[in-house]
Amino acid sequence: MPNLQDSDVLNRSISSFLIPAERVAHVQPDNNLEHTLLVLVKSGYTAIPVLDMSYRLKGLISKAQILDSILGLERIELEKLGEWKVLELMTTDFACVDDETPFERVLSLSINHPFVCIENKQGAFMGIIPRSKILAYLNGYFHDKRKKSRA
Ligand code: AMP
Repeated sequence: MPNLQDSDVLNRSISSFLIPAERVAHVQPDNNLEHTLLVLVKSGYTAIPVLDMSYRLKGLISKAQILDSILGLERIELEKLGEWKVLELMTTDFACVDDETPFERVLSLSINHPFVCIENKQGAFMGIIPRSKILAYLNGYFHDKRKKSRA
């Protein structure tokens, strides 16, 4: 087992894992749930960021939240999809760090969050780091390490 403290694995800049803002599927606080569900289903993502007109991060919204919100006691209340806005349902409890945060912190947030949102020091949304990018990097790192130790 490699000694992580002796390696540079944790010193990697988080910028190399970033999916930039322009490639992140998102909705706006005033969008209705119907539009949001379409974006979520078509993109295949479980949850996506909510950004305002100035690309400021306001929250996250997920398929599960939307589906839960339309489940009535006796029927699925589909009409709510057109009536309710993202603002009324989104969560404001999410993982967000600035773009100078050490990799180790993002790694630790990834345990409980499928993606970590990245802002710059001015609070502008820069993008996200999904858990898969972190795992792919660690997988590659350990793979290389094993290959070198066998050589
Ligand atoms: P992954 O680790 O690649 O499975 O991604 C984890 C989660 O990050 C996905 O389920 C989405 O919620 C989010 N995600 C990943 N890539 C994007 C993207 N390009 N736009 C919006 N959300 C994304």
